[in-house]
Amino acid sequence: MSNSSSKSSEGFSNGLTSSDVDVVVVGAGFAGMYMLHRLRMCGYSVRVFEAGTDVGGTWYWNRYPGARCDVESLEYSYSFDADLEQDWEWTERYSSQPEILAYAKHVADRFDLRSDISFETRVETADFDESTNSWRIQTSDGGATVSRFFVMATGCLSSTTLPDIPGIEDFEGTTIHTGQWPKEGVQLKDKRVAIIGTGSSGVQAIPVLAEECKELTVFQRTPQYTIPARNEPLETARQVDVKSRYREFREANFAMPQALGSEIPKFNDSIHDVSEEERLRRFENAWERGGTLFMSSFNDVLVDESANEYAQDFVREKISEIVEDPEVAAKLTPEHIIGCKRLVIDTDYFATFNRPNVQLVDVSGDPIQEITSSGLATQEKDFEFDVLIFATGFDAMTGSILRVAITGRDGLTIQEKWSAGPRTYLGLTVPGFPNMFAISGPGSPSVLTNMIISIEQHVEWISDCIRWLDTKGASTIEALPAAEDDWVDHVNAKAERTLFPGCNSWYLGANVPGKTRVFMPLLGFPGYVRRCNQVAENDYEGFVVQ
Ligand code: NAP
Repeated sequence: MSNSSSKSSEGFSNGLTSSDVDVVVVGAGFAGMYMLHRLRMCGYSVRVFEAGTDVGGTWYWNRYPGARCDVESLEYSYSFDADLEQDWEWTERYSSQPEILAYAKHVADRFDLRSDISFETRVETADFDESTNSWRIQTSDGGATVSRFFVMATGCLSSTTLPDIPGIEDFEGTTIHTGQWPKEGVQLKDKRVAIIGTGSSGVQAIPVLAEECKELTVFQRTPQYTIPARNEPLETARQVDVKSRYREFREANFAMPQALGSEIPKFNDSIHDVSEEERLRRFENAWERGGTLFMSSFNDVLVDESANEYAQDFVREKISEIVEDPEVAAKLTPEHIIGCKRLVIDTDYFATFNRPNVQLVDVSGDPIQEITSSGLATQEKDFEFDVLIFATGFDAMTGSILRVAITGRDGLTIQEKWSAGPRTYLGLTVPGFPNMFAISGPGSPSVLTNMIISIEQHVEWISDCIRWLDTKGASTIEALPAAEDDWVDHVNAKAERTLFPGCNSWYLGANVPGKTRVFMPLLGFPGYVRRCNQVAENDYEGFVVQ
């Protein structure tokens, strides 16, 4: 363990220079930033590599019009520092991307994080050296770093995907992915704009794009269930109240299945046990309140298909009330299970299709055949536009990890290890890859929770683990294959008790051609935290420590 963040230099046989640190962290989003801060506080030297020019991760890249968090701002923030909690002022119920990015930059300034972050630098390879029990990390700037520990803080939704449609490079107008929106913005005034995709990114962007551009054409393959966000300025009294009892507020949220929403009314009864009047009253209240916890109006909406149908019908009825043209309303009406693709929250999404400058094209039966120089073509029709926006999502949870050539013990690569889908112990570690950790990795609650809270729990578990290894005088920790097998069974068993596996979602990797279909996140935050703590208390059971 080093006492400062200074590095010693060493020459490599290939001529590269290297520097030694205790820990290399990949990514300077909320996970990488807190990992750096926490490890520094424990006295370790850290180097963070980040592809962007500044901190912020997902909030650095996703600058599309309308980008906003779907977790309330008083909850979607770090809880580790009471002064930070008190000092930062949120302005809206749900923060916009610029405000969250400003918060990330404030945190970087406040804790002087940038000095240990190498920006515009991608990690290309990471190799575990069994002779020295260390990781050798090579980066896009030609540098190499040797570290004892290697932490992937690469985010769950950061590896963007483009659809497999021929001709994308032939389009002569402007092509943009929502997840790589240019910093300088895009001029949309007087432009004919097309957008492919109606997931969270598309649903957030579409109403704002429609206001800005001349004509907007939305290419929709699967209609979306979306619930009003009811975003509004954050009342001062609410912020003052929460700040006066922030610890208690956080504790109550930690006890929730998604680590959020403790102050939303909770119901633990079946939809089948209430009258029709009560059912509609609760859904109507949830619709009026806004937010993702619409699904918590009953205890069985995500586990019982007949219960789920009531929720589906409620939202379908709302669509038919909001959308004026019955043909457009029919195209916008989903048929699948509600909630098994991530539920979206919106601001004026359905009403946007009443605007004269917005056209909806259903490509479910007539798929996009090719992108042309001036637009795109389906089997039946050609479309022309100036700007083409891909809101087509991400290679979720595993994409950014698999993009790095990581080689563990005995020459095993992470790509080989996960060729039939991701397998982890606790969503944090992988047998064969000693001293490597993934923050919010597959097999952990991650995307099914308030991400910042899940990130904090992982960061603290990892730093405690490293400190424990040092107090033991141990040099490596590695998950056992049996622990991994049990964990994978546990994650699957939890998912199978729900309706989540029932449709083609990115939770299952179903949006990426050829990706093995595995339900990747773990349901239930509090039980997960208990299990992680128990593993640590039992001297890291399920691991071999040497
Ligand atoms: P997504 O949910 O995966 O949506 C991708 C969209 O692209 C889907 O509508 C998909 O249709 C469509 N698509 C893909 N290939 C297509 C093709 N060849 N032709 C036509 N349509 C095609 O991606 P996302 O919207 O970026 O959201 C991903 C996740 O990021 C969200 O679920 C959420 O967790 C997170 N996110 C959060 C926020 C927030 O906090 N508010 C905002 C944005 C994103 P199909 O459904 O038919 O596949």
